[in-house]
Amino acid sequence: MSATGLVIAVDGTSGSGKSSTCRGVAERLGLRYLDTGAQYRAMTWWMLQHGVDVDDAAAVAAASARPDIVSGTDPRDPTIVVDGRDVSVQIRSDEVNRAVSPVSAVPAVRERLVALQRDVVGDGGIVVEGRDIGSVVCPDAHVKVFLTADPSARAERRAAEEGGSDIASTQESLLHRDRIDSGRAVAPLVQSDGAVEIDSTHRSLHDVIDLVVGLADQSPSTASER
Ligand code: C5P
Repeated sequence: MSATGLVIAVDGTSGSGKSSTCRGVAERLGLRYLDTGAQYRAMTWWMLQHGVDVDDAAAVAAASARPDIVSGTDPRDPTIVVDGRDVSVQIRSDEVNRAVSPVSAVPAVRERLVALQRDVVGDGGIVVEGRDIGSVVCPDAHVKVFLTADPSARAERRAAEEGGSDIASTQESLLHRDRIDSGRAVAPLVQSDGAVEIDSTHRSLHDVIDLVVGLADQSPSTASER
């Protein structure tokens, strides 16, 4: 199957399995992969490194044009480089977890990163994950998925990924981010028009990847390129 111009948008709550799903789908279909959450995390990491008060929206907005952020889109080895430094590990810290939602709520941050994301998407051939991909970044995506899972399942998976962190505090941190992400004024987390909801609570990763690949197979864009 050729899927050159295909765009698959996957939105959903924190820890719903977006990254593993998107990377798996991209590998199966020979597409690129963009983790927009990593870009918001990279912006946040840079603010913390440069002593910007992340709760001061005006200060965050004023600094938002400064970091140089580059995303590598190989699904087998996605990278995130800020001012020439790979920060894939640093952006997953507790400090960044706590600060990323307030930073992401600042309109100037979103404007800058959405422009960057559209640049990377270009002519397509990509799976993009985030919170506002189907609603704002790629409203014309050929396939739109809204991925959900019960909070306890999300916390268990995320805690395991983080090497056995405490499940109760991981769940509290995920729910706290969900509340800010869903309640913000600009580009809140919503199920966009035309998005297919997939609840991953009782499904294996393999099954969820199969479901998304199935949706891509049915997309008129893919069919026309076969
Ligand atoms: O996907 P991940 O959990 O790494 O995203 C981290 C944070 O980045 C989210 O909680 C949200 O605040 C922000 N984000 C966003 N819009 C996106 C992707 C992520 O606001 N498209």
